Amino acid sequence: MIALAGVHKSYGSYEVLKGIDAEVARGEVVVICGPSGSGKSTLIRTVNRLEEIGSGSITCDGNNIHQPMPAKELNRLRSRIGFVFQSFNLFPHLSAIDNIAMSPIRVKDIQRDVAYAKATKLLERVGLAEKANAYPAQLSGGQQQRVAIARALAMEPPVMLFDEPTSALDPEMVGEVLSVMKGLAADGMTMMCVTHEMGFARDVADRVWFIDQGQIVESAPPEEFFSRPQTARAQRFLSELR
Ligand code: ADP
Ligand code: MG
Repeated sequence: MIALAGVHKSYGSYEVLKGIDAEVARGEVVVICGPSGSGKSTLIRTVNRLEEIGSGSITCDGNNIHQPMPAKELNRLRSRIGFVFQSFNLFPHLSAIDNIAMSPIRVKDIQRDVAYAKATKLLERVGLAEKANAYPAQLSGGQQQRVAIARALAMEPPVMLFDEPTSALDPEMVGEVLSVMKGLAADGMTMMCVTHEMGFARDVADRVWFIDQGQIVESAPPEEFFSRPQTARAQRFLSELR
């Protein structure tokens, strides 16, 4: 579903991604972990081209993401790749349900009543049916992040990317967001998740990528990664988490 080949990226003379070769299969859940500053956000942002790359290629669902294309085509491709950020990024002047229904109406030309029926279903799916008319400021962080996930799902993307979706949340709200993500994984969504939630990685990931200094230095099923990390860097990372 996603293939990265020889991906390099620099900011000025600083090389952030130093040759990434990796694949994510359809329906696979990959958790990306590694030290702060190792390039996790940069990597995941290149997949929907929020960041340009210096060299290499990235394909997602059969599309070559970094080839030259008109802005309209890029927007169409981006709408097929759901992205959930650490900060929830909801439109503050729109209610929860309006946040969710807006893009399908504007970008996909879906009829209003169809889009709102779908948005209602998505609110149920993330456990917020009763909050349809609440504005973001009236919702907790965990609720806002669940609306943000529903908003991404409204475009029916075959792939979902998450960049530390629970890092900005109070601890008591982490579980409700992780449980929505677990549900998505159980439904067969292809997911790339940057997260420090190692319990989630153990329970849900098919594979863990450990990134250090711009390279994937380990890629293994969670039971293997957590019990037998192969590199000293991963061993140190895991021991510091505990
Ligand atoms: P992570 O998500 O693993 O913490 P990032 O991908 O955010 O790491 O950043 C990797 C490195 O790239 C860091 O050293 C960071 O300071 C640098 N970096 C990130 N974004 C920019 C930018 N826009 N300009 C310059 N340097 C950046
Ligand atoms: Mg980051």
